[in-house]
Amino acid sequence: MTLTSEMVKQAALAAGADLCGIGDMARFEGAPKEMDPRYIFPEATRVIGLVFRIPRGVQRGIEEGIQFYQYPSMAYGGINEIYAPAVLYSLGKLIEDHGYEAAVYRNTGARGVVSDMDGSPGNTLSPEEQIEVMEQAKTKTAHHRSVQFTRPVREGNVAPDLQFHFRLAAVACGLGEIGWSKMFLTPQFGPLQRVAFLFTDAPLEPDPMYSGPPICRRCMACVRECPGQCLSKTESIVVNVGGKKCEWGKLDEWKCYAFYTHAGRKFNPFVPKEVFDKNENGCLDLLEGKAPANEKEIMKVYGALEKYFPTWVGYNMAKCGGCIRACVSMLEKKGGCMEHRFKEPLRTGKAWVMDR
Ligand code: SF4
Ligand code: SF4
Repeated sequence: MTLTSEMVKQAALAAGADLCGIGDMARFEGAPKEMDPRYIFPEATRVIGLVFRIPRGVQRGIEEGIQFYQYPSMAYGGINEIYAPAVLYSLGKLIEDHGYEAAVYRNTGARGVVSDMDGSPGNTLSPEEQIEVMEQAKTKTAHHRSVQFTRPVREGNVAPDLQFHFRLAAVACGLGEIGWSKMFLTPQFGPLQRVAFLFTDAPLEPDPMYSGPPICRRCMACVRECPGQCLSKTESIVVNVGGKKCEWGKLDEWKCYAFYTHAGRKFNPFVPKEVFDKNENGCLDLLEGKAPANEKEIMKVYGALEKYFPTWVGYNMAKCGGCIRACVSMLEKKGGCMEHRFKEPLRTGKAWVMDR
């Protein structure tokens, strides 16, 4: 039997994906060499994108400031490590049973030759600095694992591990658009999803690029509610994917990494007040923008503060999520895509902030 796009989509949904889109690999034309997935599987003609929704209730604990582990464990660890790989595995078997290859790519969260955060060179630190950071951090979270020394296996290749831009790949599969916050938005779930991909040489019919009404309202709630002011209101990044213009606000990725994990004195109920007061390990300087938020400084502070909130879920513990919750709240209230999903809104009062 001929394998069709419809069969692939039905199988993906039956296995547990919430959405499935199929893109043409040619839509990656123009991507930087180090982020071009065509190097992973040169014969692939299609990319299959799978969306896994993040249940809104997984963020309830952070929204109330009461429980911070469910979001990283369920929405990061759970989806990236369990749910998505299981669906990729199942879908891959269907494709390979029809004589085509299925190169699966779950979210590794790793940094290869380029950073998965901003596409900048992955190894920004000197070898000595990398070793120093590894020793100081003494942890094995996804980002720490990435400290590495890589080189191409042959001339003309890029060095491993190639990390393509997940959100733009989701755009290439016709699943949605990039919001001002740089989050990937779908009409079905707004910013609440994670994605995984499969590359194949199966000659499937691709989906068109998303051309529905704009999902992002350009309301700038994500800018206003970022505790670290990491997202610019005026400066933007523009790229073209498969003929579709994608534009998002310029994000200071390393600063976001610092705030996402450590959140600062007004948003981190785990670190004793005195630690911030004494500016231990320069944490306050870093989190309040008085010191440069570069990789080396951030990893030093990370190692020092991690004892207060061990990453036992295997992922950085999220304390922020300001942009994603602001976006959900705005899309529910003002409409556009999420206004009919829930009987009650995510947020009924003001977002919390600690008074110190
Ligand atoms: S909060 Fe507003 S501006 Fe930001 S991504 Fe969501 S809809 Fe777009
Ligand atoms: S995750 Fe937090 S720190 Fe990063 S951009 Fe969003 S609100 Fe800002």
